[in-house]
Amino acid sequence: MSGQNPGSAATQSATEHESAAVVAFWHNLGLPGLVDIHTHFMPANVLEKVWAYFDQGRAHPDHPWRIEYRQPEDERVAMLRAFGVRRFSALAYPHKPGMAAWLNGWETEFAARTPDALHSATFYPEPGAGAYVAEAITAGARLFKAHLQVGAYDPRDELLGPVWGLLAEARVPVVVHCGSGPMPGRFTGPGPMSEVLARHPRLIAIIAHLGAPEYGDFLGLTEQYSGVYLDTTMAFTDFLERIAPFPVGLRPRLADAGGRILLGTDFPNIPYSYVHQLQALARLDLGEPWLRAVCHDNATALLGL
Ligand SMILES: [Zn+2]
Repeated sequence: MSGQNPGSAATQSATEHESAAVVAFWHNLGLPGLVDIHTHFMPANVLEKVWAYFDQGRAHPDHPWRIEYRQPEDERVAMLRAFGVRRFSALAYPHKPGMAAWLNGWETEFAARTPDALHSATFYPEPGAGAYVAEAITAGARLFKAHLQVGAYDPRDELLGPVWGLLAEARVPVVVHCGSGPMPGRFTGPGPMSEVLARHPRLIAIIAHLGAPEYGDFLGLTEQYSGVYLDTTMAFTDFLERIAPFPVGLRPRLADAGGRILLGTDFPNIPYSYVHQLQALARLDLGEPWLRAVCHDNATALLGL
């Protein structure tokens, strides 16, 4: 019909179809829904820049990254709710100094208007980081994000000493992108973050992307420290398997670490549909108890939901 957006009806039915598939996944496991520890919500102008970065092929030079979910914020929230994601994070991260405290202010407002979002916050190695992290914890932040690749900083930076100390003390988890995938950074890889954990052994660190591609080293950290978790973000999907395949020989350790693995997806910044992440977990064949723990129970226990 003229005057009507020709894509909208098709998009709506595709979304309904996908929602039904996601709901069937958790329903068949006997779960009340999903908890997704790794999703992104941030100020619109920042998200636009993130999307431009992916559009320009800067996330990976050899693998085009066409972001699947580019709807306005309220529609993206509605979509997660339709999927039955009971709680989700709102990870934002700075790529330069002077930005983290402002992002944290936005995240506080987002959490206030989105009760099912986990109040998230971030930091950067800069003077005052300890103070604004303390402030964010007081304001109710339950989850932090550190992105060592985008931020290009050393987690051992002395300006971060008070930050790791505060998070360890308060037992507030931090999602850390410190694996060298999809592209390495100067301070990615298991070395620098291992040193932070040696200094702050009580830190609750959730290693993003299952530590890809250094899966074995980061699984080793879950075996060494009781506060280290891995999120599944992009792991085992067709997309990441092409870039950084998960070694089949590590599956027994992945099964054993089942209590420390948390569902994460990277919604909305993914080049495939949400349900594909769930199918990628199911096809590992580690059993329904493992899936129930990973997709819901581990996160509710860790965060006291
Ligand atoms: Zn992410």
